[in-house]
Amino acid sequence: MNKNQELAELLFPGGKTVEEIEKQYPKRNLKTGAEVTRFAPSPTGFMHLGNFFQALIDYQIAKRSGGVFYLRIEDTDRKREISGASSIIMSIMTGYGIIPDEYELKGGVTVGDYGPYYQSERNEIYRAYAKKLVAEGYAFPCFCRKTEGLEDIKEKREKKFSTQITNEDKDVCRNLTFEQIEANIKAGKKFAIRLKSKGDGKRKIKFKDYAKGEVEILENCIDAILLKDDLTPTYNFAHPIDDTLMGTTVVVRGEEWLPSYPLHDEIFNALGYKKPKYIHNPLIYTFNEKGNKIKLSKRKHPEADMRFFDKEGYVKDAVIEYLTNLANSNFENWRKNNPNADYFDFPFDGFKITANTPIFDMVKLNDISKEIISKMTAEQCYEHLLLWAKEFSTENVNYLIKEKDYVIKILNIDREKSKPRKDLYKWSMFFELFDYMFGKPTSYEIDDNEKSEFSKVLKAYKKYLNLNDKDTWFENVKKMSAELGYATDNAEFKKNPEKYKGNVAKVCEYIRIAITGRKNSPDLFEIMTLLGKERVLDILNDLI
Ligand code: GLU
Repeated sequence: MNKNQELAELLFPGGKTVEEIEKQYPKRNLKTGAEVTRFAPSPTGFMHLGNFFQALIDYQIAKRSGGVFYLRIEDTDRKREISGASSIIMSIMTGYGIIPDEYELKGGVTVGDYGPYYQSERNEIYRAYAKKLVAEGYAFPCFCRKTEGLEDIKEKREKKFSTQITNEDKDVCRNLTFEQIEANIKAGKKFAIRLKSKGDGKRKIKFKDYAKGEVEILENCIDAILLKDDLTPTYNFAHPIDDTLMGTTVVVRGEEWLPSYPLHDEIFNALGYKKPKYIHNPLIYTFNEKGNKIKLSKRKHPEADMRFFDKEGYVKDAVIEYLTNLANSNFENWRKNNPNADYFDFPFDGFKITANTPIFDMVKLNDISKEIISKMTAEQCYEHLLLWAKEFSTENVNYLIKEKDYVIKILNIDREKSKPRKDLYKWSMFFELFDYMFGKPTSYEIDDNEKSEFSKVLKAYKKYLNLNDKDTWFENVKKMSAELGYATDNAEFKKNPEKYKGNVAKVCEYIRIAITGRKNSPDLFEIMTLLGKERVLDILNDLI
C-alpha cells in the first residue's frame, strides 16, 4: 500500500470499492441512438418554469430517441429540502404528461434499476469514489472550518475568469503530511474532501455544447470541495458519478452551470469516465414594466412557479406548446400549418434549442391558450372548468354541477363553429368573462352624453323584444331603429350620415351594453336567448 492508499484507508476505513459499485450499475441495454436523460431538481418544494422547461427538453430527447428519462432528486443540501417536495415535483410532471420512466417516491415505490434516485441515499457511493481519488492522489482531506473552506472556494471561483490562480493560492491542507492528517483525525477533527486539481488555470479546454455551440473555456484549477465536512457530496462531485453510473447520455441543465463545466471535466477525467453530451439551456427571461428583459424570478413573477398555471386554470397543452415554441422557434410555423395535428407530431429537436434568450410573454401564452380552448367543445370546456373548480374554486363547484346544462350553453356561445370566438384562455376567468349571465351588470360602458339616447332606445325596445329566432329578432331591432331615426342599411348610412342618428349597429350596441354592460360580447342573440325574455325585460326595466 502506498502512502495515498494508506491515507484513503485512514479517512474511509472499509466500505465498498468503486469496482463493486460499478458492477451494480451495468450498461443500459438500449438501441443505438437511444438517449438517456434525467431531470435532477433540488427538492425545494417549488418548480420553476425554467426547470420544467428543462424537463420538457429531457423528456422529448429521451422519448424521441427511444431512450430513458428518469427523475433524480438532488437532495444533498438538506437545508433547502422541503418535505413532500418530490411528490409536488412528480405531480406537476405527471399532470403535464412528462412522466419519468424511472423515479422513486420517498418512503414508497421505486421504479427503475439504477437507483437510489435520491442522492441522500447514495452517500456510500460518493464516499467510495472520494476514497478512490484520495488513493490515487487526486483528492485530499481539508480540515479548514466549514465556512472557511466554502467561502474560500466561492471567492476563488468568482475570481476564476478574471485572474489566474497559482498553486501558492491553494489551500494549505493540500500539503499536509500523512502524520499531520493522522494527528488531526485522532484529535477528532472533521474534514472535507477536496480535489487536488492538476490545472494551472491557463490552459483552455474546448467542448461542444448542443445549445451554445463550440465552447472554449479556461480549465479548472480550483481544489473544489467534493465531499463536505459531513461527508455528503457537492453537486460538482455527485454529477459525474451519478450521471455515469445511471447511464445518462445527455445532460440538460441551466446555463448557470456552464462556468462549472471545467471542474466537472476535471472530475470526469480523474475518475476515468466519459462525459455525456451537454445542453446548457438558456434561462428564461420576461419583460418588466419598462419593457426591459429581466430574468423570470420566483420573487417577482408568479408565473415562475409552475403551480401558478394550475391555480389560474390554464390548459396544460397551452403551457407545453408555448414552452415548445421557446425551445424550437419553428414550432409556431408548424402549428400554423398543422392546426389540428397532435402536439407530439411536431419534430421536437432537443439538440437544436433556440439560441436566443427565451422570453416568457403571458400575452403569447394566452393567445396559444385561446386557440386551444376555441377548438374544444362546450362539453369539454365544462369538464375542464369543473376539474379546475374542484381544486381551486371550490365555492363554485355546487353551482357548476347543479347548473351544468346552463353552463354548457354559456360555454357554447359562439363555439363549435368554423370561426369560434377566442376570448377564454383560462378557467379562472370564466365567471368574470360571463358575469352578465349570472346577474345584472354592475357597470355599463356608456358615455355620459349618450345616456339619454341609451335610455330612449331601451324603452322603445321593450315593445320590439322578440327572441323566437335570430332573423325575427334582428328584423325587430331594424324596425325599431328606423322608427327612432337610425339607418338600417349601412351603405345608405355611409352615403348620407347626416340624415341619421347613427346606424343599426349603434342600436345593437346599446342593447348589448344594457344586457352585458359591455360594448363587446359574444353573439347578443345567443346571450339574450339564454337569459330568456323575462330576465331581459327585467334588465331593461331596471335600467329604464
Ligand atoms: N440540482 C441541479 C439544479 O437544480 C441540477 C443541475 C443538473 O441538471 O445537472 O440546478
